[in-house]
Amino acid sequence: MRALRITRHQSAPELVEVPDPVPGPGQVRLRVAAAGACHSDLHLMEMPPEQLAGQGLRLPFTLGHESAGWVDAVGPGVGAVRVGDACAVYGPWGCGHCRSCARGAEQYCEVTHGAGGPGLGGDGGMAEYLLVDDVRHLVPLGDLDPVAAAPLTDAGLTPYHAIRKALPLLGPGSTAVVIGAGGLGHLGIQILRAITPARVVAVDVAPAKLAQALDLGAHAAVPAGKDAAAAIRVETAGGRGAQAVFDMVGSAATMATAAAAVGVEGRLTVVGLGGGALPFRLGAVPFDVDVSLPYWGTHGELFEVLDLARAGLIRAHVETVPLAGMPAAYDRLRAGEVTGRVVMVPSA
Ligand code: NAD
Ligand code: ZN
Ligand code: ZN
Repeated sequence: MRALRITRHQSAPELVEVPDPVPGPGQVRLRVAAAGACHSDLHLMEMPPEQLAGQGLRLPFTLGHESAGWVDAVGPGVGAVRVGDACAVYGPWGCGHCRSCARGAEQYCEVTHGAGGPGLGGDGGMAEYLLVDDVRHLVPLGDLDPVAAAPLTDAGLTPYHAIRKALPLLGPGSTAVVIGAGGLGHLGIQILRAITPARVVAVDVAPAKLAQALDLGAHAAVPAGKDAAAAIRVETAGGRGAQAVFDMVGSAATMATAAAAVGVEGRLTVVGLGGGALPFRLGAVPFDVDVSLPYWGTHGELFEVLDLARAGLIRAHVETVPLAGMPAAYDRLRAGEVTGRVVMVPSA
């Protein structure tokens, strides 16, 4: 089969021919319906060898950590799914036995530490087939479209996890800010509208993303830059700042905006892996602000995200691209030219 792999450090991915995977005991082979292209893939492509190794990742591997597809073959001992079933893949693969895994938070596995799953050191969904290590990683889709569901496993699940933690702050009269209205952000905005009464303010550098954010239910759109924090505060009740800020970029500039836009007793969540730092001292953030750096989400939360989609409350806006078109699509993602999510569809 064909697969899009990172074969060399700090290089573009390559489309190569690899053997079709064969499911062993307990494993499932999916025929890939779709695999989303995450900005984290760009970070992986750009990472120096030491940093990649520090995260427990070794080259080569096939990209793609947000995937969905149809069960194509099962190994001995697999009874929970049948050939033809449509499934989404819960991407952070833990050991399945530690305390974090036991409560479904495999992204915080005490053994694997988030490394080795599909597209993150292990072979991911940017291929014709995906070998799934254990049937527990599969979430049944029923009649949900697997192409639109693929991005929900990360671009939906990650903001959902972050927003859930901020829910006690997001009551009536509150304001939530989403900085970076891209793959994660466009779903974060919809999730906020679906599960909270908060006023939602979107911030981005790109006018097209701001226009999409308003279409998706944001109450206000603010261009990024040095005046952004003041413009966000104007949108908050009494000008007292936002109760929750979700920074989906994580650069020094966006974290400074986040710190200046959050109100007293608010929550500042850094989701983006942009490598910025936030000064944390008297005067740098308002009193009693909680700062959090979450990673992905839990298995149970993925069921809930898919339920939101099933109820018609959220929808990933996808642009489908065939495998051969993915290197160019990643270049467009890097240049900020993708609205919503690019998903690789082998048959596109
Ligand atoms: P994306 O490229 O689809 O979206 C990023 C958005 O940010 C774009 O709309 C872009 O225009 C905007 N942007 C860029 N610079 C900006 C600035 N200075 N101010 C405001 N907006 C700006 O990326 P994505 O796939 O949504 O991923 C976003 C980030 O989240 C990446 O760093 C990715 O690695 C990270 N991520 C983290 C987790 C986690 O678990 N913590 C999970 C998935 C992705
Ligand atoms: Zn991702
Ligand atoms: Zn574990």
